[in-house]
Amino acid sequence: MNGSRAIFFDRDDTLIKNVPYLGDPSRVVLMPRVRENLPRLSAAGFALFLVSNQSGVGRGFITKAQVDAVNDEMFRQLGGNFFTGDYMCYAAPGQPDAAGERKPAPGLLFKARDEHGIDLTASVFVGDRLSDVQCGLNAGCRSVLLLHDTEDGVADRERARGLAHFVAEDFAAATEWILRTLTATV
Ligand SMILES: [Mg+2]
Repeated sequence: MNGSRAIFFDRDDTLIKNVPYLGDPSRVVLMPRVRENLPRLSAAGFALFLVSNQSGVGRGFITKAQVDAVNDEMFRQLGGNFFTGDYMCYAAPGQPDAAGERKPAPGLLFKARDEHGIDLTASVFVGDRLSDVQCGLNAGCRSVLLLHDTEDGVADRERARGLAHFVAEDFAAATEWILRTLTATV
């Protein structure tokens, strides 16, 4: 199958430190090693996408505009918006769209595939939780698990470790594995 190779990123505890239901851009803090490595992946020819569950919107705790403001602050701290697109699931569990689009469901990756001509079998999902690893696998991608802070408990963490194609100590290790394993074509 022809198509662009993509890297899909979880946001919270992958690109920025997780703050539950974050709506305040002043609390955005990049995770270690992200700022210097994300541009390398972009420069290697991968299309980068943000894929995030933001159920705080569906729960009525924060607005979509606040999510956008947080994302904009993240882009500013990264030194630019390196992402081809962002795919947010605002639904809380049980709400419409949650079934198909809330990670670990693969719906948002299928949307990115259809809208941007992505070859999912040549693409990777990077995240810190079992639901990230499963989302990537459910879409036919490879999955990379980041080992640092996570909201997952011990059992989910162990399941995620067993399922992931690669378990990375940090974002730099994930970057090296991706660059070594996948040859980017655009
Ligand atoms: Mg996360």
